[in-house]
Amino acid sequence: MARTRTLLAMGVTARELNRARKAGEIVRPRQGLYALPTTSPQEFHAAAHGGVPAATTAARLHGLWVLDENTIHVWMGAEGRQLAACADCCLHWSAGQPETGSLPSIPRTLLQIAQCRSEESFFAALESALRQRLLSGEDLRRLRSELPARLRWLLDFARDDADSGLESIVRHRLHRIGIDVRTQILIHETGRVDLLIGDRLLIEIDGKQNHDGRAERHKDLMRDALSAMWGYETLRFDFAMIMYDWALVEHAIVAKIAAGAHMWP
Ligand SMILES: [Zn+2]
Ligand SMILES: [Zn+2]
Repeated sequence: MARTRTLLAMGVTARELNRARKAGEIVRPRQGLYALPTTSPQEFHAAAHGGVPAATTAARLHGLWVLDENTIHVWMGAEGRQLAACADCCLHWSAGQPETGSLPSIPRTLLQIAQCRSEESFFAALESALRQRLLSGEDLRRLRSELPARLRWLLDFARDDADSGLESIVRHRLHRIGIDVRTQILIHETGRVDLLIGDRLLIEIDGKQNHDGRAERHKDLMRDALSAMWGYETLRFDFAMIMYDWALVEHAIVAKIAAGAHMWP
């Protein structure tokens, strides 16, 4: 993406721009700005508003784990000017100057999520960034000083080994009701398990992907049987249960704990 005046300064002529546009080689999100046709729809839409993607929209483009969402978040900057009206976007007028054609930095993206999305959305994106080693010590210090005080504890609670955003969400929700879990524990013959409560209650989370096939199903059943043989109890939840029927998930876990399934007999 580039401003027309930058392109002209580089020696491209107005005529060439016109030709390329007619040929579909470049597109124009707004007056004075050109983009390649491969630009993502979100970046294109944000540019039409006069901003760049923000919050969860930017997080996804950065490759962080975020839940699907229809809203496009746009960072306008403190001095920004809204160039197109739109009822569907969430406009962020927070400080700083968005740079055309780029994304806000990862710490800034996380701060934007903290401003407009839920605590767990922020937490899942944070753990996703930590897992991919995308935050430096300096970034973390900046987050700690700029995050609202009520969210700062999440920086200490966050780990860098969460397997998926779903796992982050489950750990966060369980912590909220006083259940602490251990993560990525190696169990004899079973291998690595997602979450362990107490000594022997395993919580396995089936992500959206890679749990469709018969082979995967067989592998899961084998794991459950092997861990049962060693005295473990397994509860297995999928995306839909966690996101749309959390009450059931929580009741199932609480009932198992009440029955002592998390402790060796
Ligand atoms: Zn919009
Ligand atoms: Zn927003």
